[in-house]
Amino acid sequence: DLGSSLRGTLDKLRGKSRISEEDVEEIVKEIQRSLISADVEISLVQELSDNIKQRALEEEPPAGTPARDFVLSIVYEELVDLIGESTDLPLEEQTILLAGLQGSGKTTSAAKMAWWFSTKGLRPAVIQTDTFRPGAYDQAQEMAERAEVDFYGNPDNDDPVEIARKGLEETSEADVHIVDTAGRHALEDDLIDEIEQIEGVVDPDTSLLVLDAAIGQGAKEQASQFDESIGIDGVVITKLDGTAKGGGALTAVDQTDSSIAFLGTGEEVQDVERFEPNGFISRLLGMGDLGQLAERVERAMQQTEIEEEDWDPEDMLQGQFTLNDMQKQMEAMNNMGPLDQVMDMIPGFGGGIKDQLPDDAMDVTQDRMRSFSVIMDSMTDAEKEYPKAIGASQIERIARGSGTSEEQVRELLQQYKMMEKTLKQFQGMGSDKEMQRMMQ
Ligand code: GDP
Ligand code: MG
Repeated sequence: DLGSSLRGTLDKLRGKSRISEEDVEEIVKEIQRSLISADVEISLVQELSDNIKQRALEEEPPAGTPARDFVLSIVYEELVDLIGESTDLPLEEQTILLAGLQGSGKTTSAAKMAWWFSTKGLRPAVIQTDTFRPGAYDQAQEMAERAEVDFYGNPDNDDPVEIARKGLEETSEADVHIVDTAGRHALEDDLIDEIEQIEGVVDPDTSLLVLDAAIGQGAKEQASQFDESIGIDGVVITKLDGTAKGGGALTAVDQTDSSIAFLGTGEEVQDVERFEPNGFISRLLGMGDLGQLAERVERAMQQTEIEEEDWDPEDMLQGQFTLNDMQKQMEAMNNMGPLDQVMDMIPGFGGGIKDQLPDDAMDVTQDRMRSFSVIMDSMTDAEKEYPKAIGASQIERIARGSGTSEEQVRELLQQYKMMEKTLKQFQGMGSDKEMQRMMQ
């Protein structure tokens, strides 16, 4: 099972928050394998994996998001980008034309879609124009009956264009007209001619290409041929109740610049679903609910952005620098990177000026940050706002309260003093005319 192999690779990332190029390569390879075995066309797979690779390496995971989830959310977003939302089908009067090769599931899908529209309170009719396949009329009529929808067909007429014209007249009481057409074993000129003529008479609002989920690399030619002749607005993918994952739909959607409308999931008229990207993509990759995961990562991303907005490094250069500022800065470092990089974001404080900092003035390592955080949690707000007022008795109390030593508390205060001094220096520079000119 390829899904489980992909999960295995991703599980190796569990707990990691940084991803190496090697990790990304490995994941992308697994994604490629999954997509190819799901019948996604090779050039599409290549394009997708290039995008995924680039984003996974360039973008910063939001704080607290495991690397695995981050990469998966990128994979999901790229696939959603390609597939898009379901084909727009307004719940109102309309005509839909179905095209596709023989056996792809057109007749079944016509009845299924008619049933689906009837559950939305509309009155659908199926018009059967297949004069090619023996028994096509009976099959369509029987399915329309099961769906309890209007039906028109004429087994005694061998002109599909004429049947289509007549069918629209005869079912004028219906709001939604679904026109089923004949298929052939392969794309042939007479099939294309026939469907072009039907299209001319029917003038559909939407033309859907019906594809068997098992269609592999053949999807591309079919999609481009039908698109050229009648213009494809959407794809119906059938037989998803089998083992095939329906990756050919991606090719068709890409090729026709359209979207997926419906999914067929069985032989009964009720076995139909409106397309929805999450379920389809999760199934395609053999993974759980990827949409939910991507949403979670997106929320974390927004949260990080809000926190970054909340804390403006420039504020630090104005007014009093307090322990609260230092704590915020330490949190920000988690999200933005080390302070010297943060400094680069401040206009005028990149390059040369930064080099004038004492070596370790801004260097707060992860471990120290953690212990500083614990210590600050035992301080009062007043102490954090006026650290200079912290004396020996307070230091003793804070050390006891935070389960650290007085020495550690002193170290924190020392770090604070050093940062404050450095920033004062900056503030002094900022008011200097010469410096201001340099910063512009
Ligand atoms: P058409 O030639 O394009 O009209 O295809 P049909 O609608 O006649 O379907 C061909 C065969 O596929 C029939 O045996 C259908 O019962 C079967 N079929 C169509 N859709 C589905 C589906 O979603 N699931 C399953 N299991 N079978 C389907
Ligand atoms: Mg048929």
